[in-house]
Amino acid sequence: MNSLILTGGRIIDPVSGIDGSYDLTVVDGEIETLEPAGSVPVPGGGEVLDCARMWIVPGLIDPHVHLRDPGFPEKETIASGLHAAVAGGFTTVAAMANTSPVNDSAEITHYMLERAHEAHAARLVPISAVTRGLHGRELVDFDTMIQAGARMFSDDGLPIDDAELLLRGFDQASRTGFAISLHEEDRALTAGGAMNAGETAKCLGVAGIPVTAESSRVRRDLALAIGSQAPVHVAHVSTAESVELVRAAKKRGANITCEVTPHHFMLDDRAVLTWGPNARMAPPLRSPADVEAILEAMADGTIDMIATDHAPHDSRSKCLPELAPLFGRNPGTCLSAQAAAKLARAANGVVGLETAVGLALSLVQRRIISVVRMVEMMAANPARLLRLDAHGCLAVGAPADITVIDPALEWTVEPETFWSKSRNTPFTGMRLTGRPIVTIIGGQVVFDRREVVH
Ligand SMILES: [Zn+2]
Repeated sequence: MNSLILTGGRIIDPVSGIDGSYDLTVVDGEIETLEPAGSVPVPGGGEVLDCARMWIVPGLIDPHVHLRDPGFPEKETIASGLHAAVAGGFTTVAAMANTSPVNDSAEITHYMLERAHEAHAARLVPISAVTRGLHGRELVDFDTMIQAGARMFSDDGLPIDDAELLLRGFDQASRTGFAISLHEEDRALTAGGAMNAGETAKCLGVAGIPVTAESSRVRRDLALAIGSQAPVHVAHVSTAESVELVRAAKKRGANITCEVTPHHFMLDDRAVLTWGPNARMAPPLRSPADVEAILEAMADGTIDMIATDHAPHDSRSKCLPELAPLFGRNPGTCLSAQAAAKLARAANGVVGLETAVGLALSLVQRRIISVVRMVEMMAANPARLLRLDAHGCLAVGAPADITVIDPALEWTVEPETFWSKSRNTPFTGMRLTGRPIVTIIGGQVVFDRREVVH
């Protein structure tokens, strides 16, 4: 018998409605008991983890990461990405299909699961492409992919332009019960754009991406979703209008969910002045008014979950050698036409696994969301989306996937200490309070910050 006891922590589990001081016992990988702190003598023999002043929450689940494997080992591998995940408090991550080759076959799904098994870090949930090769022309075989281990479908990185094809995809999602996650972008409106259309884009002299590039697609696809009743998930909403459309579609009874990334709830488009290509992503950072609308939607439940959209890139893909000197120290200067074009060509995305919890906790500290709501958004709701039934909660008998957070730990974001292979973040140097310190998967401590030098 292999046992572990977490004593004296504040257990927060929205699914079972628990928020209080409990001792939690794990035996053979499962949660065995959950009793009011000190009410049961601690049995001898097992490992004891003193969790006084700590928060104990269900293992966090990220429904949207890019692990770049197979295909781009210089940016990330499944092993490095899953180690970054546990260092960031995640016990499960869902990996997008835009690898090379694309994950549109059982063979690639098996490859991902095998690499994950060898990594001995976070659990990996493969996301299958919706269309073969992400070409938007022909659906993958949903049954084959589900049998291989896929638990969601997405062409993320690219939109699905063909509405008729998407509708047939929705039929498959309805039939199988596994959701389709949508990257909403009208490429006719984003072409050539480097950042959100607005004052900052004008000031830098770069082409802008209008909010309608996202919301027009959200409008179309939610109309299709309402009709089909398929489980549909809108990835990384970034605009006030998208949020309003989701709110309205939910009222009409659509089977939809949506997610927001930490960068979209923390930053607005002015961050590009400081961070240049490290604040470039799709969808782009939006206006302060959009961020306001997103925070409101996180609080009122319109936005269901937080997803990092962890998107590792090396500095060359980000054009950092050429562009970095133009940002940061002297923000606000107009870019040359050549530099503006370069910014528009820089790879999209930022890393997020190791900063997400600290950033989400900042919303708890600002009283925008409660910690219970945060746990719902980072564990219970992603578990439901991915149909990981026994996960996302701390019920007796559930697999012991647990994240221990020190809510008072003050720290600074230092990309050079990331477990991820990439350092593309717009949060360098930010001071945050609260950080995951122990990550437990299936009853095994897979990460313990107290043993890490940095
Ligand atoms: Zn995307």
